[in-house]
Amino acid sequence: MDLKEKIRVIDGFPAEGISFKDITTLLKDADALKDCINQMAERFKDVHVDIVIGPESRGFIFATPLAYLLGTGFVPVRKPGKLPAETISYEYKLEYGTDKLEIHKDAIQPGQKVLIIDDLLATGGTMYAAAKLVEKLGGEVVGLGFLIELNDLNGREKLEGYKVESLIQY
Ligand code: 5GP
Repeated sequence: MDLKEKIRVIDGFPAEGISFKDITTLLKDADALKDCINQMAERFKDVHVDIVIGPESRGFIFATPLAYLLGTGFVPVRKPGKLPAETISYEYKLEYGTDKLEIHKDAIQPGQKVLIIDDLLATGGTMYAAAKLVEKLGGEVVGLGFLIELNDLNGREKLEGYKVESLIQY
């Protein structure tokens, strides 16, 4: 299936000059949703995965069904203050200011092989932070998967050294 056809592009959201890739049109389509998760699984079929991670919030949507399909657990990476138990955090730079992501300290055991899934790769800042959190806990990042990759923003360069897979490119 051509998943790109299922993405709705909205120019000027959330700010002028941004061409937003709306995944909700894909998500509500039963065949597209199933095909999307199956395609992600196919990309990592040769990799041993112990746990699948998704960054808040759209990462949750894809990482959890993929974890189910692969027969692993799911771990959330969240914005500050959302996780109830003890966390570690990673702060990263945005165009203006900084952002922070957190993970539970006991979410990953040293040596576990971790696959991280998000909806979209732009600059790579979010995924880089998630990967660093996993590594701080002693996990091994075995793959980074995205539904969408925005080629012009060079996120793939920021993630050099990792196995990066995306199903749709713009
Ligand atoms: P990055 O950290 O790679 O610059 O940005 C990626 C993050 O921003 C992802 O977590 C993604 O959810 C969000 N994002 C940025 N632009 C878009 C977009 O056009 N569509 C969607 N669905 N998410 C976006």
